Amino acid sequence: MTKKTILITGGTGYIGSHTAVQLLEADYQVIMLDNLSNSKADVVQRVEKISGKKVSFIQGDIRDDQCLHQVFQNNPIDAVIHFAGLKAVGEGQSQPMRYYENNVSGSLSLFQAMQSFGVKTLLFSSSATVYGDDGVGKYHEQSALSPSNVYGQTKYMVEQILRDIQASDASWRVGILRYFNPVGAHPSGYIGEDPNGIPNNLMPYIAKVASGELTHLNVFGNDYPTPDGTGLRDYIHIQDLAAGHLESLRYMLEKNTSITVNLGTGQPHSVLELVHAFEQVTEQSVPYQITQRRAGDVAICYADPSLAKTLMGWQAKYNIQQMCADTWRWQTYSKTILKI
Ligand code: NAD
Ligand code: UDP
Repeated sequence: MTKKTILITGGTGYIGSHTAVQLLEADYQVIMLDNLSNSKADVVQRVEKISGKKVSFIQGDIRDDQCLHQVFQNNPIDAVIHFAGLKAVGEGQSQPMRYYENNVSGSLSLFQAMQSFGVKTLLFSSSATVYGDDGVGKYHEQSALSPSNVYGQTKYMVEQILRDIQASDASWRVGILRYFNPVGAHPSGYIGEDPNGIPNNLMPYIAKVASGELTHLNVFGNDYPTPDGTGLRDYIHIQDLAAGHLESLRYMLEKNTSITVNLGTGQPHSVLELVHAFEQVTEQSVPYQITQRRAGDVAICYADPSLAKTLMGWQAKYNIQQMCADTWRWQTYSKTILKI
């Protein structure tokens, strides 16, 4: 049987690279397309090193119709996993046009190219940010959609475009995957999250405090209605998240269907729980101080992940200790022994 070929947009990014490794290990052919606006080309070699397989890499932009035309013309693509996008919530608020143009127009160009070449199987990276704040914090796929920032709006809009495409043409198979808080790194320490500058997200920030690059963590509020007063989130190991993509793809191809699923653990953890787990696992200290709440944060956000389990048997396996250990390995390896 010939191997299936998967185009991964945003393939050298954090989630794309981990998913690429698992696809290669499952014997898919992988083509990565990335404009390198938020990742580095050496990720390709790292993915090849972990998997022992070759990857095709194309430096290009999903907004470039000519580039997309060539990619689809020259390669027998069976399905697309679409990760390419801008993802910083604060940046989206200050640069809305850039976010809508990249995330929404870019996605539309990609879907048009797919349609022209008859490639109608797609997984899309959506986010828990599409849900409105319901005051409870546990979200299932039917929860109300009401994004509260520009970034979340771009995800909601692309979801809506995809719902309309499916309604107009039943031969599309679309997987809308709503991620909660992806953290951790590949256990090899060769790939992980590599944010530019000072991280916005909790786990990479903690890692930089533990390594001494930053002096302390600011904990954004300890007066939330949660057991220790700090925010509760659903942290999911990147390996579990990547596996969720493989299972979704297999399910969609096998059942010839579309899905919308949450990818989370269903276990909320507080900011301080994560800090203490990190300290315990790595034996490093993570000094912190309590500061004001961050604008736009909700108290609690975690997944009801039962649909993914019922449909395709997927559930997260890693706990927060493993998430911390793998983040730390990546943080230390990427600075020291990592020379390819
Ligand atoms: P990332 O920034 O590491 O990866 C995205 C990749 O897309 C980068 O390598 C970037 O260079 C590339 N890219 C951006 N715009 C592009 C364009 N126009 N053309 C080609 N390449 C482009 O981010 P990630 O964490 O791997 O996220 C992947 C996807 O998952 C994004 O769409 C993001 O919005 C979504 N998501 C991420 C999280 C998270 O917390 N990491 C949560 C929910 C959803
Ligand atoms: N957080 C924090 N300090 C930081 C970054 C984040 O206290 O420097 C908290 C934030 O208020 C939230 C949780 O950590 O309760 C997760 O935030 P993150 O930005 O990682 O993800 P979000 O859920 O906001 O997308």
